[in-house]
Amino acid sequence: MKHIFGVLFIVLSIHSFSQNKTQNVIIITLDGMRWQEVFGGADSAILKNHIYTKDSIGTNNAFWADDVTERRNKLFPFLWNSIAKKGQLYGNRWVGNKVDNANPYWFSYPGYNEIFTGYPDTAVNSNEKKWNKNINVLEFINNQKKYKGKVAAFATWDVFPYILNTQRSNLYVNADADTLKFENPSLQLINDMQFLTTRPIGVRPDVFTYFAAREYLKAYQPNVLYIAFDETDDFAHVGEYDQYLKSAFSQDAMIADLWKYIQSTPQYKNKTTLIITCDHGRGDKVKDNWRHHGKKIEDAGQIWIAVIGPDTKPLGEVKTAGQLYQKQLAATFAQLLNLNFNTEHPVADPIKSIYK
Ligand SMILES: [Zn+2]
Repeated sequence: MKHIFGVLFIVLSIHSFSQNKTQNVIIITLDGMRWQEVFGGADSAILKNHIYTKDSIGTNNAFWADDVTERRNKLFPFLWNSIAKKGQLYGNRWVGNKVDNANPYWFSYPGYNEIFTGYPDTAVNSNEKKWNKNINVLEFINNQKKYKGKVAAFATWDVFPYILNTQRSNLYVNADADTLKFENPSLQLINDMQFLTTRPIGVRPDVFTYFAAREYLKAYQPNVLYIAFDETDDFAHVGEYDQYLKSAFSQDAMIADLWKYIQSTPQYKNKTTLIITCDHGRGDKVKDNWRHHGKKIEDAGQIWIAVIGPDTKPLGEVKTAGQLYQKQLAATFAQLLNLNFNTEHPVADPIKSIYK
């Protein structure tokens, strides 16, 4: 009997450790980016409203098309030309595919906590710079021998060091205008620039976060990289729809640029899964609420997820009825690396369709 169990154990072990081709995971978030624009392109009601769209001719030329497929392609060319063909897109509620916050608050800190801890902790209910008590999946991965020092995060918003609790986690998190203390000349140049730029949203522009992350990737080749963009949320709050769209378009372009690098570099090519999502949604039923989010805005807990990678089947835009939650992402990131994220708090199940 002993022998039979021994053999069975070995078979099960091989089975559970041999599935995924993914060796690197890159996570990107677009703060407060609505699923309505991801799947529908620019919204005509907001586009025609001169209060929200000052440059209506320019914005129409750049982002409007009568046909919805053409319109969303114009706003998110990488999502719709690359991910929709080779990856997966979840969250088009017009066809019954839903992704939601599990936390009841629908703003940033609780959303990012949910993404990275897998635990929609109801005690996390503020955007203040408080050290997060919950263990996140990035530190869990960084604490595995194989990935020690191979996990990094670059963020535009200066609250991320607290959300990811760098005090405890020892993760490398570079946020807002944190000095880039590297000898690499590209990172030194970006560092000089980030201190001299204008700051239209009160923190460094997303393009600096992106270039810092990209050059770090080239120089230090991390296995897990997180990039947190912020501009879309800020421009939405101040009611500048043209700037909100331009930021979304620019973020899509930066993601395309990163993917091009990944697929041209032996360390990353066909070994890297890219996951793109957001922290929360925004209003839509009451059109003026596109600017806002939070628990009083009834549709603001609606989000979306896009994935591309060697273990992700090319389902494209997922049109089957379904319900996913943001809290499932943390375990999914770990599972892609064949790791089982468990810690002292409950962790939601991974999204199997992403890697099976
Ligand atoms: Zn916001």
